[in-house]
Amino acid sequence: MIDDERFAANLETVREAVHRLGRDEVRILAVTKGHGVEEIERAARHGITDIGESYAQELESKRSTIPDGVAVHFIGRIQRNKVRRVAADVDLWHSVDRLELLDEIGRRRPGAPVLIQVGVDGDPTKAGVAADEIAPMLVRAEEAGVEVRGLMTMGVFDDDEASRRQFEHTARLAEIHELPEVSMGMSGDYRIALAAGSTILRLGTVLFGPRPSR
Ligand SMILES: *Cc1c(COP(=O)(O)O)cnc(C)c1O
Repeated sequence: MIDDERFAANLETVREAVHRLGRDEVRILAVTKGHGVEEIERAARHGITDIGESYAQELESKRSTIPDGVAVHFIGRIQRNKVRRVAADVDLWHSVDRLELLDEIGRRRPGAPVLIQVGVDGDPTKAGVAADEIAPMLVRAEEAGVEVRGLMTMGVFDDDEASRRQFEHTARLAEIHELPEVSMGMSGDYRIALAAGSTILRLGTVLFGPRPSR
């Protein structure tokens, strides 16, 4: 586990990178999955207002300890039957990648804001929808009573150039569809994501150090 001083220094490094690019409006989401409640509290003490969780069960076990004023982002892949369990806790859903998920979120939390996860075109092993599936998702979201705020994507592990292409592609798609938010950039690639126009960085390891094994 880290201490406050280390956390503050880590956060400052990220804030400097954001500031240098003139992007102070970018939201830094502290990914607290795998960490105990003390890390959520630590982040909140340092002015973090957004945290990311990936697992429904883990979120359920932490929910009562999340400080007031901290928004919860669900960043993991979620099964349809688990939406109900955390619907009241989640302030923004990041990885919506199927029509049925839009229906279920709309049913359990009418008006909920979501991001559609964009995959890598031509690579079916990667999570997320293809570029030409975004428009039908937007139509379905409207029908389901869900508000699409933007797009989310993942970089390509250990390949900066492929990550840059994916981030620029996703930012362009958000622009085409007039969606304001683009959630992209993790510990290993957040500088690339920032340069490509990310509006939400999802950061775990660079802030907290390595996650304890599950
Ligand atoms: C775990 C996770 C992160 C944070 O990863 P780090 O590499 O620790 O910054 C970001 N986004 C998603 C979707 C994740 O699952």
